[in-house]
Amino acid sequence: MTNKKVTGSCFCGEVQFTIELPTLFCGHCHCSMCRRPHGAAFVTWTAVPTNQLTITAGENRITRYQSSLKGTRSFCSNCGSQLFCQVEENEVDIAMAALHGPIDRLPEEHYYFDSRADWVDINDNLPKLGGADGRQPLD
Ligand SMILES: [Zn+2]
Ligand SMILES: [Zn+2]
Repeated sequence: MTNKKVTGSCFCGEVQFTIELPTLFCGHCHCSMCRRPHGAAFVTWTAVPTNQLTITAGENRITRYQSSLKGTRSFCSNCGSQLFCQVEENEVDIAMAALHGPIDRLPEEHYYFDSRADWVDINDNLPKLGGADGRQPLD
């Protein structure tokens, strides 16, 4: 039996990929290193083990940018869509906005909430985490 798969792509469609469920987490990241390249108030990520991500088209269009000591971000060199962020060797974050359909969970937490943009109101009931690694309870 094979697990359910969800397809995704960049904005121009040159880069196509598939993730295989189950995912590892899903949450909103408010750190500045996510906000700036995505041009967004925050970025909603999910993640899968690296071997559950398959690039099905446009591998040659993917540009990888090392955005921190451990983090490498991947985007489409044609349209600029941010797609993936790899921090751990065996795990890759997938921008939810690049996926074409629902996954096996909804966003569960806010990360780096103490770094959030002050021009957007977040009024949901999800846990708001922050601190040095972005995942500590605030207050
Ligand atoms: Zn593209
Ligand atoms: Zn982030």
